[in-house]
Amino acid sequence: MPELPEVETVRRGLARVVGLTLTRLEQRRPDLRIPLPSDFAKQLEGRRLEGVDRRGKYMLWRFSGGPVLIVHLGMSGTLILRDGPRAPELHEHVVFTFSDGTTLAYQDPRRFGLMTLTTADNASQHRLLADMGPEPLGNEFNGPVLAAALKGRKSPLKAALLDQRLVAGLGNIYVCEALYRAGLSPERLAGTLRGPAVERLAQAIKAVLTDAIAAGGSSLRNYVQASGELGYFQHRWAVYGKEGERCPGCSPTARCRVQRVVQSARSTFYCPRTQT
Ligand SMILES: [Zn+2]
Repeated sequence: MPELPEVETVRRGLARVVGLTLTRLEQRRPDLRIPLPSDFAKQLEGRRLEGVDRRGKYMLWRFSGGPVLIVHLGMSGTLILRDGPRAPELHEHVVFTFSDGTTLAYQDPRRFGLMTLTTADNASQHRLLADMGPEPLGNEFNGPVLAAALKGRKSPLKAALLDQRLVAGLGNIYVCEALYRAGLSPERLAGTLRGPAVERLAQAIKAVLTDAIAAGGSSLRNYVQASGELGYFQHRWAVYGKEGERCPGCSPTARCRVQRVVQSARSTFYCPRTQT
């Protein structure tokens, strides 16, 4: 599932069509996870794409005259940029054509993604965005802010960090990686975290997201430009998906192996020695 770094990479890849006018919007089915906007093409055709912003795992495509298209990639959604028209491929549900002939196809086999329209004036108060916590890479996110958000929480740290109301954009992969970097157990009660540990966690979240964007961005950008290959960042993960492999942070003599535990029906990967 695309998390903040993947969505940010896609957002950056879309710079190529920012400033262009949307000349055609082709809709091939009535819905994704929710119905696509009514009069979808009519509402956007002829408008200029003025910018693409991101909030958590959502993109906000700002069009001239006020409409804002909220886009979420769901579990399997991808956006594929091409230089010109091409015969529709499987699972391409919406195709945007821009004034220079570039097409942007939204492909989503599982259809957990969504596209919905709002306006520039109402975007921040949209029900999908209004309750979202701070952007972890923004200046407004730091140790004290995270400490306040965790205070009184009785859930495990892992579950708390997946809650988009606490901090925006984190998913399973980057929560595991951030907890590993911070040396904090995913099973620790969120509300018990204090002082230096919270600061360490806030910094680890920022660092892992920054590294992911920097390291994986180019491969995902290629993906956006239609290489068709998955461009996620497996080669940089320290613990995620690595059950039983040698723990990269512990000395070889310690014989530490990455462990996996299931929390809220999702796998958590961690180092049993250093995460306490
Ligand atoms: Zn270890």
